This record gives sequence, structure tokens and C-alpha cells, in this order.
Amino acid sequence: MMKVAVLALQGAFVEHERMLRNMGMECMEIRQEKDVYRDFDAIILPGGESTVMGKLLRDYNLFSILKEKIQGGLPVLGTCAGLILLAENLSGGETPHLATMPITVKRNAYGRQLGSFRTEAEFKGLGTIPMVFIRAPYIEETGEGVEILAEIDGRIVAVRYKNQIGVSFHPELADCTSIYRMFLQL
Ligand code: GLN
Repeated sequence: MMKVAVLALQGAFVEHERMLRNMGMECMEIRQEKDVYRDFDAIILPGGESTVMGKLLRDYNLFSILKEKIQGGLPVLGTCAGLILLAENLSGGETPHLATMPITVKRNAYGRQLGSFRTEAEFKGLGTIPMVFIRAPYIEETGEGVEILAEIDGRIVAVRYKNQIGVSFHPELADCTSIYRMFLQL
């Protein structure tokens, strides 16, 4: 059976675990350095607060090893703050985190009033799916080899680059299993 790790430092990790279990997947939490040396087939970086998660990744010595594993081909799904962790560039000159995906991401990009909303949109290969946005980022620029998977009003909200999928929204809060299935096929 496939085992999926969920980064469990902060944020909406429990919701991802619930989704995975409902889909019959085995999952485990990454909370400290020793966890990352266990065997797992894929990892999810959840939503939450990217600045906090980025700091904790460093404080707990998870940063370099996770970055290496992702660059080495470990399938990763980054949702919302998790997408921000993957981005090579953050707009406004903020310091990037894992920086494994050649994209530029704008944080809190939808402004205050539009901070949180739910919608449905076309996702490449999956048809129309529900999308829940919470103080969400969007993708301003994509580099070479990045495939755009979804856009809303001309703004990119989902991408794939090799073994990495990043989405601005929260599939775990929309009960959207199709994204997980696509990810687990990577
Ligand atoms: N605003 C958060 C950040 O900048 C992301 C929000 C989320 O993950 N729902 O990290």
C-alpha cells in the first residue's frame, strides 16, 4: 500500500490525513527530523502560514533533506501555504523557502474582502472541481517546464512541474478526492 507523508508542523494537516484515510491510503506525519528518514512514497505540504512553516522547517532540520528528496523526485503536493513553500520566487522580494518549483507566487493575493471564497473551475484532466480559497496565493509567473492546470479569471491557481503539484486552494476542505488521485498517480 502507498504511504503518504503529511508535513505536520502547523496548519491544515489533519484534514489531509482524513482525506487520505477515507481514500484507503496509509499516512504518516512529518514532525521532526527522524520522521523524514522513514519510508514514504509521497508528501503533502498543507495550507497554513508559510512563514511559520518555513521557519519550523529550518528549526527542526527538515529543510535540506526535504528539499533534496523533492529535487530527487519524491512526489509532492503543496496546497496554499504548501504551494508558497515550493515556489522559487515570492513576489515583493520575500525570501523563498524550499524553492524547488520555477514559479513566482504572490501571497495573500486576493485582498482582504476576497480573502476566502469557494468556487468551481476547470482543472486540466479532472473536469470541473470545487475550490476553496483562504487568504490564498496565486501564481504570477511560470518558468520552463511548468504546466498550468487551472486558472480563475486569468490567474493561475494550479500547476505541475515534474513530480510537483501546487495548488492555491484547499482540496482537503472541499472533499475533492480527484486531485489526490491525480497526485498519487505521479
Ligand atoms: N496566507 C497564507 C500564507 O501566506 C496561506 C494561507 C493558507 O494556506 N490558507 O502562507
